[in-house]
Amino acid sequence: MKVASVIVDVPAKQTDKPFDYLIPDKWKEIIKPGVRVIVPFGPRKLQGFVVQIKAESEFQKLREIAEPMDLMPVLNKELLVLGDWLTEHTLSFQILAFQAMLPAALKAKYEKVIRLAAGVSPEMLADPLPSFFRKNGKVAWEDALKSNLAAMLQVEVTKAHLEVVYEVKERVKKKQQKYIYPLLQKSELEAMVAQIPARAEKQRQLLNFFLEHPQPIEPKTLYALAGVSSSTVNVLMKKNILGEIEREVYRDPFADREFKRTSPLPLTPDQKKAMAPILASIEEQRHEVFLLYGVTGSGKTEVYLQSIQAVIEKGKEAIVLVPEIALTPQMVTRFKGRFGDKVAVLHSGLSAGEKYDEWRKIQRKEVKVAVGARSAIFAPFENLGIIIIDEEHETSYKQEEMPRYHARDVAIKRGNTYNCPVVLGSATPALESFARAQKGVYHLLPLPNRMNNKEFPPVQIVDMREELRAGNRSIFSNVLMEKLKERLEKKEQTVLFLNKRGHSSFVMCRDCGYVVNCPNCDISLTYHSKSEQMKCHYCGFEGWVPANCPECASEHIRYFGTGTQKVEAELGKVLPEARVIRMDVDTTGRKGAHERLLSEFQEGKADILLGTQMIAKGLDFPNITLVGVLSADTMLHLPDFRSSEKTFQLLTQVSGRAGRHELPGEVIIQTYTPEHYSVQLAGKQDYDLFYQQEMQMRKLHKYPPFYYISLITVSHEQLMTAVSVTEKITNFIRSRLSDQTIILGPVASSISRINNRYRYQCLIKYKREPDLSRTLKQVLDVYQKNPIHGLQVSVDVNPFILL
Ligand code: ADP
Ligand code: ZN
Ligand code: ZN
Repeated sequence: MKVASVIVDVPAKQTDKPFDYLIPDKWKEIIKPGVRVIVPFGPRKLQGFVVQIKAESEFQKLREIAEPMDLMPVLNKELLVLGDWLTEHTLSFQILAFQAMLPAALKAKYEKVIRLAAGVSPEMLADPLPSFFRKNGKVAWEDALKSNLAAMLQVEVTKAHLEVVYEVKERVKKKQQKYIYPLLQKSELEAMVAQIPARAEKQRQLLNFFLEHPQPIEPKTLYALAGVSSSTVNVLMKKNILGEIEREVYRDPFADREFKRTSPLPLTPDQKKAMAPILASIEEQRHEVFLLYGVTGSGKTEVYLQSIQAVIEKGKEAIVLVPEIALTPQMVTRFKGRFGDKVAVLHSGLSAGEKYDEWRKIQRKEVKVAVGARSAIFAPFENLGIIIIDEEHETSYKQEEMPRYHARDVAIKRGNTYNCPVVLGSATPALESFARAQKGVYHLLPLPNRMNNKEFPPVQIVDMREELRAGNRSIFSNVLMEKLKERLEKKEQTVLFLNKRGHSSFVMCRDCGYVVNCPNCDISLTYHSKSEQMKCHYCGFEGWVPANCPECASEHIRYFGTGTQKVEAELGKVLPEARVIRMDVDTTGRKGAHERLLSEFQEGKADILLGTQMIAKGLDFPNITLVGVLSADTMLHLPDFRSSEKTFQLLTQVSGRAGRHELPGEVIIQTYTPEHYSVQLAGKQDYDLFYQQEMQMRKLHKYPPFYYISLITVSHEQLMTAVSVTEKITNFIRSRLSDQTIILGPVASSISRINNRYRYQCLIKYKREPDLSRTLKQVLDVYQKNPIHGLQVSVDVNPFILL
């Protein structure tokens, strides 16, 4: 009898280790490492992952595995090892690390079925399977297991006759398609044809058709090809000669889109120079990390595409990560255009089912390239030849919940395993990355020029304090207004960018300065003009704007700042003739809305595209000649040591949207802090100087890349509990770490209360602290083994957000 070690689906300290189970004989062919199983656990039944198969266990009286959840492993060997590494590296629970690597559809709330693969009729299966699949082409997983035919089913899955799919349990409308197919074997059909009376010519015609084409076929196609009508088909169905099955149509979100195939462009000397070391690394199967440093439009994507080409020619695979908001149709088009259906696309705009389909294409080796957001780094390729991370500085590459991993670290880990290059691309690399490139840890590949040597658009920085002094209370400076009007006359397009992060539309008393905060959280409420309510973005609290100020009873209490809706309303007043498309979370919530709005803008159906972060990237339309940033500083004042860097990156990125083609472009940046170096240097597109200045600041304040940081956050309903636990933790850590390490705490978090829970933190800054991981684990262990009611302790190694 064999034993399986299983990690069960309970994210808690006590269960964060493998448990041994006996493998019943009937499952022994199926249960392997990486297969999910159902196991008894106390009185319950739980899901789990098999991580190891062994001949015996050190424990007595093992229970048996109840049943397998998969016929094939969902995690291969490499990913199982990677899961261990993730667990270690991010101090996560093992089960969460495994789950993070799989598409959401592989979770319990999805119903699992085995169904006929496309183009397969039930009769092609070995006996006695056909009878199970005749009715509607599928069998529920539970029923299949009960039938004791698991081994046979597995064989058919291997032959690609059957496939295991997940159907969302909620009744989401799925595209179903009917198929007609013969219920009889060939010899029986032939006998049938011979028996048919002479006057039933159409029936004979239909049967002859199926003798030649026994595969299931859509009714419409059948009528056309066989030259019969639905009534003939119905007659034969009544006689049980033909059957009908319903099949879900293959969910390809890009199926109805044409991708014009593109060929590799002859590279410029700069591009050749940048690509040569990447090609060498591919050729020599040597892991190396490259930092492809080039402004937008310098030809980075073409370098990615041709490097991938080289990888595919070697029979290997590629992962391309793109930030979620940059995963625009334009980006997808470039990859699909070059590599056609060798590309799988994974992003959050897809339904769970669509995502699973794309993932399956990778697992079955039907594709060579996976393009996707953060979690695509776990694409289950087994012969990786390159990993590319575009816009590597983006914060969305860091996951903010367990496992708190950074995709860049995972990429380097996998690149190491497969001896393949990792290419990080950016116009404004993360300070850490550029510092590593300076030190030679990464190989710096500069692309210094824009294609066709297009000049950067001139940037004008407008001091909004001056505007106010001059009596202009509008959200548009005079110069921006002028330029907007010019564009309308010339029928050119404008992008208006509003940085929504920060407190952009809070409610404030004009007389005493009172700001309406959430009663549960320590943060101002955001005003929504549509519902005329104030909302808390942390806990969901909603309330009306008070008629009078609670502090001074003044009536002059109203919302401030500028949400996109307000800007839109304002535009309607001052430029009534302008056609505006607004893009923000409200207008792009529905699936496909993002894409639709962008293509409307591209088709010239609007003069102004107004939006938040989501329009900062990827836009590349020839008619955009003006970019306006309404207020550059909202992010500068966030209590985060990366706020200058993020501001610089964002402003640089937005400015790059103008004048990318023949028409010259220009950029207007409105700001209340024109003297800040982030704003100044973004205006000059001078990353190198920004890097130098920001490095000095980081050195001075002992932040990355000079120090590593780890953050412990403690929260509890009682302020005193939060403080005292944080204090204990801080003292414990102080006693364990070296004198060179700086430990800041206990201090209140920047958002000191969320949802009525007080938040305290301890920030650790260190250069070398080999024992840190163990110490942090001990801290977590104490509170996980002896939980204090309602207490949460979380650890983020290399946090990206300090709020
Ligand atoms: P990036 O990814 O750095 O923003 P792209 O690769 O998108 O730059 O290149 C910018 C533009 O220049 C694109 O329209 C692209 O098609 C074009 N381009 C890139 N490389 C070449 C080349 N070698 N020859 C001609 N055009 C090129
Ligand atoms: Zn007041
Ligand atoms: Zn709240």
